[in-house]
Amino acid sequence: MLNENLRISESLLQVSVVSRIKNQLLNGRIPQTYLFSGPESTGRKTMARALAATLLCRKNESFSEGFDACRECESCRAVASDCHPDLNFIYPMGNDIKVSQIRAMQKSAELKPLYGKWRFIVICQADSLNESSGNCILKILEESPPSLIFVLIAANEKKILPTILSRSEHIVFRSPSHKDVREYIVKRYNINSDITARYYAQSLGKPGKTIEWLTDLQGVSERSSLALPEAQTAYIDQLANISGHFSKIFSSANSLDGLTKIFNNSDLLETSALANARREFCLGIIAAPLLPASFPLLFSRLMLETLDQVKSEVKKEVEKFFKSQKENYSSGILKELEDGAGYSVTEIAYSQIDSFLLSLSAILADMLYSAHSTDEEILLNIDEKEFIINSLKFHGLPRVEAKLRTISLMRNYLRRYVNPGLILENILSDFGGRLL
Ligand SMILES: [Zn+2]
Repeated sequence: MLNENLRISESLLQVSVVSRIKNQLLNGRIPQTYLFSGPESTGRKTMARALAATLLCRKNESFSEGFDACRECESCRAVASDCHPDLNFIYPMGNDIKVSQIRAMQKSAELKPLYGKWRFIVICQADSLNESSGNCILKILEESPPSLIFVLIAANEKKILPTILSRSEHIVFRSPSHKDVREYIVKRYNINSDITARYYAQSLGKPGKTIEWLTDLQGVSERSSLALPEAQTAYIDQLANISGHFSKIFSSANSLDGLTKIFNNSDLLETSALANARREFCLGIIAAPLLPASFPLLFSRLMLETLDQVKSEVKKEVEKFFKSQKENYSSGILKELEDGAGYSVTEIAYSQIDSFLLSLSAILADMLYSAHSTDEEILLNIDEKEFIINSLKFHGLPRVEAKLRTISLMRNYLRRYVNPGLILENILSDFGGRLL
């Protein structure tokens, strides 16, 4: 799986992006700064890695029609396992990318290539560069040799400093339709369409994550239709597993880069089992004709206590790591990084609550779409289309719309750090007990 994504031409469903980048390489006009903008899960980072792999590949002396990374040479293997010395990723630490991170990067490595002809710096969530880290990047851009290539990845290009934006080759990534993604995966990986549909639905529409799970050697998990209490237990168990999963990933990349990478990619902590349990639980909530009046309060307490436990376990590991870094960084930088890490630990819990709300609203949104269109391909949860149609009959369109509005409002509150217990209770009481 790791090597799958190294080829520019295979970048998922981004045909116009692929041809634009390929033309630049063929003509030898490689911009020094790329800006890849677009929504999440459109393959921006995958493309950044493929671009680096292609330019760094030992077998690509010159580019001719049909070139790509070989995926076999030393360099390609290093890119695939994220340990190429000429390819660095920077992620926000806390709520922004700090100037200390840019300086640490600048300090930790020479700006000329160590291994190949090029050196890449990929700035993930570049819209969270603050003024001082943005200016620091700008300074490096102005002074750096043409062999240094920056790739900035951003959801919102309006937040990029205009002085950086004007120097960038701006490439826009667009979301493909659910239908196109499902068809692509079935064809490209030769996987059964029902299983593809289910995994894609539980990924909440993330092509890369779906492919990762489907091509995982552990095999495809069975669909488990559980009653609501069992579905709840299964979901809570999976949430409790997050800290174990964190340790496993972190132990293989015990570095500042490894830590920020995990913190900024909540997908890394997302296992197929967790996603599956979450969706089953959400389907169960919508299917339940009646929920006990105590359910919203009890579930929200259970979920928050579990996430607190996860947080304290992750925090312990992070503290241990920072203690071991005393010799590598000045105490000022270390303090700033540790504060950012503390914020990120809290974010792990918030992003789980948000994923739960998203999963619930994805099913409700499908109910809404099914009321307005006969084209079932627009559904994310297409494998549950009968359930979707029946549930719409049961709940009725006005209620579905009201629930979607509530969830959207509550997600806004969650982003402003309103008490998550209140948020969960508010949403769940809209489903259960008296109100039905
Ligand atoms: Zn290669």
